[in-house]
Amino acid sequence: MAGLALHSDLLLVQRLSSLDGQIDAAIATIRELEDSVRAAVAAVKKGMAEHEAAKAVLAGLVERERVLNRKLHSYQTQRDRTRTLIDEGKAPDFIVAERQFAQCAELADETEFALLELMEEKDGVEARIAVIEQGLRSGHANLDLARAARDAGRPPEEVIVKKLRPERAAAWADFPGDIKGSYELLRKRRAPTLVFLKGGICEHCHIQARAQVVIEVERQRGTHRCAGCGAWILDVRREAADDESADE
Ligand SMILES: [Zn+2]
Repeated sequence: MAGLALHSDLLLVQRLSSLDGQIDAAIATIRELEDSVRAAVAAVKKGMAEHEAAKAVLAGLVERERVLNRKLHSYQTQRDRTRTLIDEGKAPDFIVAERQFAQCAELADETEFALLELMEEKDGVEARIAVIEQGLRSGHANLDLARAARDAGRPPEEVIVKKLRPERAAAWADFPGDIKGSYELLRKRRAPTLVFLKGGICEHCHIQARAQVVIEVERQRGTHRCAGCGAWILDVRREAADDESADE
């Protein structure tokens, strides 16, 4: 009779574990859905920050381009004016004018070269901005998907939690006081509360159960806990290989 009474403990552990498992799964799903939304928001924010930074770089290049263009125009104008003076023989000092022409021509060439380099740099930044914008578009699409999945997926999980919480409270109220602490400890460790033995070995912690325990579990006599992890032993499973050969 004592064995039967003990075995009813196992039924209570089973009921509580099942409820906790279902509530945990629902909460985990809700958390995953929210995590996806958070990750998608973070990706969009990162893309926006990159976009802003690249735009600022581009604005700086545009400003430099404007300055260089103005310089180039001034050097070219001075160069051409000096050339005209020389060609028309109106230069006060021919040597000085030639030197001035050469200087202006060189400065104009240098500035033109700097402008070419700047254009290349600008092209690179513009290409990067295009890539960032493409990423932002897919980032926004991902966010929409994550939000839709969350909005559709969260309510049913919340219904499950809301429905099971009172059942869990009732199961906890029925739970034997002397094993409440052990159960809570397993839950706190996020360890399974119920395990199977496979070939006499705990499927969770791989500790070998005593032969007597295996026999008693098989005969559903008494309530036993794994000597390794402390979980309640639900049943004994045959080796997977045996199951397969049995199927044939
Ligand atoms: Zn174990």
